[in-house]
Amino acid sequence: MSGWLSTPKNAGCDINWVENLSAALSKKHWDPNLHSIVSKLSTGTRLSVDDGVRLFTHPNLHEVGQLANMVKYARFGSNVFFNSNVHINQTNVCVLACKFCAFRRSKKQADAYELSIDSYLEEMEKYARLVDEVHSVGGLHPDWDVEYYENLISSAKQKHPDIAIKALTAVEIKHLAQQSNIDYTETLSRLKNAGLDSLPGGGAEILNDDIRQIICNGKESSDEYLEIHRQAHSLGIPSNCTMLFGTIESIHDRVIHMDKLRQLADEYGLFQCFVPYPFLPDSTRLPEAQLATSNEVLRTIAVSRLMLDSIPHIKAYRMNIGDEIAELALNYGADDIDGTVRQESIMHLAGADSSLNYDIYQMAKLVKDAGFIPIKRNTTYTKFTTVTVEPPKRPRRLNVIA
Ligand code: SF4
Repeated sequence: MSGWLSTPKNAGCDINWVENLSAALSKKHWDPNLHSIVSKLSTGTRLSVDDGVRLFTHPNLHEVGQLANMVKYARFGSNVFFNSNVHINQTNVCVLACKFCAFRRSKKQADAYELSIDSYLEEMEKYARLVDEVHSVGGLHPDWDVEYYENLISSAKQKHPDIAIKALTAVEIKHLAQQSNIDYTETLSRLKNAGLDSLPGGGAEILNDDIRQIICNGKESSDEYLEIHRQAHSLGIPSNCTMLFGTIESIHDRVIHMDKLRQLADEYGLFQCFVPYPFLPDSTRLPEAQLATSNEVLRTIAVSRLMLDSIPHIKAYRMNIGDEIAELALNYGADDIDGTVRQESIMHLAGADSSLNYDIYQMAKLVKDAGFIPIKRNTTYTKFTTVTVEPPKRPRRLNVIA
């Protein structure tokens, strides 16, 4: 294995990517309907919201995917990044009841759980030698405040100083601030001082308050989601951002969502990764959801890559879309795939059946089979290690019928 370092701003990206892209785009013939978009991409000009809608409705999905793939290739070549992480969901007890959520429980339900700090540390201990990141999100517990999480995070850091802690979505930050009667900045800076390394992007859903009122009434507003991430970035805490699609939103809503995120990314450059994932219908309470086909998942990933010029990484979230579509997504503009994961509840309770508990070689094989170079990254995309995959001992032999 060999490694290299990058800065948080470059995040492993070739700094000459616009020049690389311009050269690559000029070698192909594009549908006339895409000419103005291709010409903007060639000069590093930001695509407009109308361009985004056009990409969503362009009849040739493969051509949109090719464009996205060229942007991905110009930035990162054949590299595809993954992390070695474990998901620990600290509690499913939640004071809210978002319509799409299959995970939350009220405190009185028989299968409600809350990990004590000791139980959380025991969970971490099981995977400590295997991972370099713990990803923790959970319900809005009615009794836990910022002090509780300061103790949890500092205890975890004390025991496992080399494991990065990526924890607490924007709505959890809002809840902790309310519980402790302090503002977002104080909440975030106390958690940072306790050892929080970065924020996950969960909870963005669709940044349109009319839709949020229907699908996740009571959750943070669009502006609050953006403000909490803005405050985190201003304190030097990097974060990811997400989009839940296939509920009741329109294509225009998806593109506006992307536009809001890229504008915030312009301010501090600390959105590391965008994670688009479709609504999973099982066991949840949103019968009016439109759902998303596999083609639509690929197209949404491709359009994200083309629209989000100020967010370096686009993730194929295999926990949600499964390994097969995630591999395909790597050819539609995604450069990052999450992750070894080890254990996960939120997506699996909603119907996901993706494999858990991969090691780094299984992840590397997944990436290599899709045609790319597997690169293990750290949480903040500043340390990279190329992972070599051994050739199979018994190569597959497929008979050809003449
Ligand atoms: S999505 Fe989060 S905030 Fe909403 S009900 Fe589920 S756990 Fe609670």
